[in-house]
Amino acid sequence: MVHQKINLDRLSPEEALITPTYASRALTSAVPKYEIPEGEMPPAVAYNLIRDELALDGNSRLNLATFVTTWMEPEAKQLMAETFDKNMIDKDEYPQTAEIELRCVNMIARLWNAPESEAATGCSTIGSSEAAMLGGMALKWQWRKRRQKEGKPTDKPNLVMGINVQVCWEKFCRYWEVEPRFVPMEGNRFHLNATEAIKLIDENTIGVIAIMGSTFDGSYEPVQEINDALEKLNRETGWQVPLHVDGASGGFIAPFLDPDLVWDFRLKWVKSINASGHKYGLVYPGVGWIIWRDRQELPEELIFHCNYLGGDLPNFALNFSRPGNQVVAQYYNFLRLGKEGYRQIHQACRDTALYLSGEIPKMGPFELITDGSTIPVFAWKLKETISDQ
Ligand SMILES: *Cc1c(COP(=O)(O)O)cnc(C)c1O
Repeated sequence: MVHQKINLDRLSPEEALITPTYASRALTSAVPKYEIPEGEMPPAVAYNLIRDELALDGNSRLNLATFVTTWMEPEAKQLMAETFDKNMIDKDEYPQTAEIELRCVNMIARLWNAPESEAATGCSTIGSSEAAMLGGMALKWQWRKRRQKEGKPTDKPNLVMGINVQVCWEKFCRYWEVEPRFVPMEGNRFHLNATEAIKLIDENTIGVIAIMGSTFDGSYEPVQEINDALEKLNRETGWQVPLHVDGASGGFIAPFLDPDLVWDFRLKWVKSINASGHKYGLVYPGVGWIIWRDRQELPEELIFHCNYLGGDLPNFALNFSRPGNQVVAQYYNFLRLGKEGYRQIHQACRDTALYLSGEIPKMGPFELITDGSTIPVFAWKLKETISDQ
């Protein structure tokens, strides 16, 4: 959220001050809300004051309208509390945290079937949005290099995707000056398909985004079909239009529940994939992941070699300092749950989604759009006949 400075002259004392109703010897005067108080207060008083105000928030355990993890085991919480203080960027001071990030990258690359013959490369991020920025940049830089080599103009890059993309892709396009080309929804199709994607591609297309688990209705986009259409198009035109899979949700669902669905690095044109560790990776916010199928897909110019914290730290990120604890928590889940644990949890979520999507249409006025058999998310609508009345 973008916040604005509040004009204190316009506020009544009640609006400008916190005046807790409980009496505490330590809290004999009101506390300003919008200015740093002049004096100190004891830790327990500050703790209680803030905790009580936060009681006004929703209860995250009851928040069913989120994709983000709202519960972790006490051991995970403890591990996270113990590793808040480690700066993820400082690989020299915290080499074991860096090693754990490397292990996670390896585990995820293999989960997504990165071929052993290629050198999959990736990193943790603060979430899928940062991962999308990095993935999009790699697409843009690679496209520009190909164009420059051919002596062709590089001033009009575009990115092809469904209109149902998560806002991070619109953000990527605006921030990095790439024309977004949206495939509209049509009839009962609420996501991208190969035929429509191909129509929008030209020589200036830096890539196509396919979503595994659309935020709109939970559906998987037909990644294999799009890959095959790209294979044909690229063969006919000599272009090299790649595919990035936004697996924010599905990246941690499909490998466990739909192992036979081919959507990942088994497909030739899938050059990079992102996922949110804090969604079905089952970690508290914020951690995301991005993996490129091969080191070559990640342009060297985008990697910064920083040495002021010690040795050479190759880094590709939008931010710098970040707590190491979410990555540690991701590793905890991988070890603690294993593939079987993830499968069981996600299957239970899918069973719940399927049960609900089986009951809701029986109520009468509703009709399903999707049923939760992809990511455990489904959408329904009022039947036409009723909404027409
Ligand atoms: C949630 C989501 C994102 C953004 O992910 P964050 O981890 O919240 O930054 C991007 N794409 C899709 C498909 C998503 O579901």
